[in-house]
Amino acid sequence: MSSLRFKVVEEAFDRKAVPVEIPSERPEAFYGKAVFNRKTMFEYLPKATYDALISAIENKTSISRDLADSVAEGMKRWAIDNGARHYSHWFHPLTDGTAEKHDAFIEHDGKGGVVEEFSGKLLVQQEPDASSFPNGGIRNTFEARGYSAWDISSPAFILDGTLCIPTIFISYTGESLDYKTPLLRALNAVDRAATGVARFFDPEVKHVKSFLGWEQEYFLVDEALYSARPDLVLTGRTLMGHESAKNQQLEDHYFGAIPSRVEAFMLDLEIECHRLGIPAKTRHNEVAPNQFELAPIYEETNLANDHNLLLMSLMSEVARRHNFRVLLHEKPFAGINGSGKHNNWSLGTDRGTLLFAPGRTPEANLQFLTFVINVMAAVHKHNALIKASIMSATNCHRLGANEAPPAIISIFTGSSIEHVLDELDKATPEELAKLSSKSGVSLGLSQIPEIMVDNTDRNRTSPFAFTGNRFEFRAVGSSANCACAMIALNAAVADQLNSFREAVEARIAAGTPQKDAILEELRKLASECKNIQFNGNGYSDEWKAEAARRGLDCESSAPKIFDAYLSPSSVEMFVRTGVFSRVELEARNEVKWEMYTKKVQIEARVLGDLAINHVISVATRNQSLLVDNVVKLKSLFPGVKGAYVVTHDLETIEKISYHMDVIKTEVDAMVEARKAANRIASEREKAIAYHDTVAPKMETIRYHIDKLELMVDNEMWPLPKYRELLFIR
Ligand code: ADP
Ligand code: MG
Repeated sequence: MSSLRFKVVEEAFDRKAVPVEIPSERPEAFYGKAVFNRKTMFEYLPKATYDALISAIENKTSISRDLADSVAEGMKRWAIDNGARHYSHWFHPLTDGTAEKHDAFIEHDGKGGVVEEFSGKLLVQQEPDASSFPNGGIRNTFEARGYSAWDISSPAFILDGTLCIPTIFISYTGESLDYKTPLLRALNAVDRAATGVARFFDPEVKHVKSFLGWEQEYFLVDEALYSARPDLVLTGRTLMGHESAKNQQLEDHYFGAIPSRVEAFMLDLEIECHRLGIPAKTRHNEVAPNQFELAPIYEETNLANDHNLLLMSLMSEVARRHNFRVLLHEKPFAGINGSGKHNNWSLGTDRGTLLFAPGRTPEANLQFLTFVINVMAAVHKHNALIKASIMSATNCHRLGANEAPPAIISIFTGSSIEHVLDELDKATPEELAKLSSKSGVSLGLSQIPEIMVDNTDRNRTSPFAFTGNRFEFRAVGSSANCACAMIALNAAVADQLNSFREAVEARIAAGTPQKDAILEELRKLASECKNIQFNGNGYSDEWKAEAARRGLDCESSAPKIFDAYLSPSSVEMFVRTGVFSRVELEARNEVKWEMYTKKVQIEARVLGDLAINHVISVATRNQSLLVDNVVKLKSLFPGVKGAYVVTHDLETIEKISYHMDVIKTEVDAMVEARKAANRIASEREKAIAYHDTVAPKMETIRYHIDKLELMVDNEMWPLPKYRELLFIR
């Protein structure tokens, strides 16, 4: 009998909510207390230093060594006043998490004691011994140095007594080894490009910012149950487990009352977020049992992404205080919804205009339409790349399944934009010229805001939806670093806006009035990219066929999807915008393929172990009990009656034997498939082999294990079942 399983289930079911230490102050008073933000900077830095730093942040210029020294001194005083003893450069290597290496502030004082010091040199740049971060072959061992350099646009913060300084991470030869460097490059590119276009409408615009509001979905599992599931511990998802009779069918979890244990966790997390300046705002139950969401108020993309990464590590820490483990995996449980991280994304000028928000005048709506159509054109042209930007060994379980965005990128625009695009498409250049020269711009442009308000049909099946004043990129995975998606999207849009501006300028140079030039160019774009627009059901099979006809990328194998990063159009776009060099792109793909392989490899090993020494062994024990029973019954009831009495047992014995046999054979075959794949030298080919030959075996093995779960004596089954894992009391 599996006493461990019953023990942990009992432990989990008896657990009470952990009381939260609620600060006596209101959020206003403690918000951002652990952040070296402008308010604190003003307090701790000399006025001249403060002014120079803010100007460098706003104008994106670099800072001098003297300025760095002065900032470091103030930052250290603030950190020490707030209990910090260590400092660390905090960066985002090409792994799943963040990296930090702590150093104490202490230095020798020359008299046998120590003083606490922190210089501009240490603030601005460090050389972490980082030879074992993924680099895709960029760094040879002889130049294994990596540099981390301060990102002045994201404020330092104190986490667990350590002053964390957000930094980029690059190689000795200058290639990026992280997510932040290319993100900052993409944000600069979209700033320059969008500013160029926004000036057609408002010559005073100096900068365009990219905004991100992510919605983080996650699962919680009681820690006792979690630790009894080696697959959850080692891979973040359940590799086996029969569906629970009751799942999400009754739709009773979504937006339902939050269980008290979870509510305590959420409150605790929110307080931590607010201390760290993360504007956590929304929390609710999600669709699947034990699934929840947290969303902040949107911020500038770089900061928002730092906050998301910080949140993901905070969540794990706070969850432990509440005897939970948080699962950020995109598909921890088969048969119920997986977790995403919708990226709400928009562009806005330094003059306060949101560029995807319809305005009150036809002119404002022409600007709105310009930006929306350019986004559509960029996503259309780079749809394969945009999909590659969200693909991973974990997110591939979610995409294409019947509950999440399909593995085809299309844009939901809603009917009002669709209507305007149709009109644009139909109009001849002469008609356009007439339209624009009448009273401002016609084309129904003046009606857009009114139609938009009514436009509440929010298509949940679209991977990329226009939602009123922003786009919601829904295909991003819950465990992802949003930078990946934001780099590809902002860079692609930047490149598109640059070519749009050039085309419009060429028309103007040829004598066309600006408004007509813009309209003509929009008309051309709208007709070129109309195939990306899809307002129907993204889950349907008809759409898959239709998308293929439209020439959209329909590849569904993760390792092959990564190829899109190296297609000529992607490489040219990234090089033109200065976001990635070819060397960087090649190196990153090596890392992507390698990561894919390693994740499937780990899962295959865990599943193989569990299959043999958990499942097969209890099934054997169960089987021998049944066999024993048969023998005894037969001796008790000899002859025909005996044969009749044991029929049921014999059937079960046979079924168990069958499933055990398939499991054993498939586990052996999976080991062989792994061995064969491991001999392949090319990372790409190896990942493809893992995808094509190893991953499908896992599916088969799981199927038979799940069948056994229904047959083997409940008392013997060793691993907590879905019905026990998924319903927090
Ligand atoms: P939903 O109804 O899509 O679940 P939520 O309220 O959960 O919406 O989350 C919406 C997210 O979009 C929030 O993080 C919000 O701050 C963000 N958001 C709102 N407006 C914008 C915008 N203009 N740009 C970027 N993000 C935005
Ligand atoms: Mg939401």
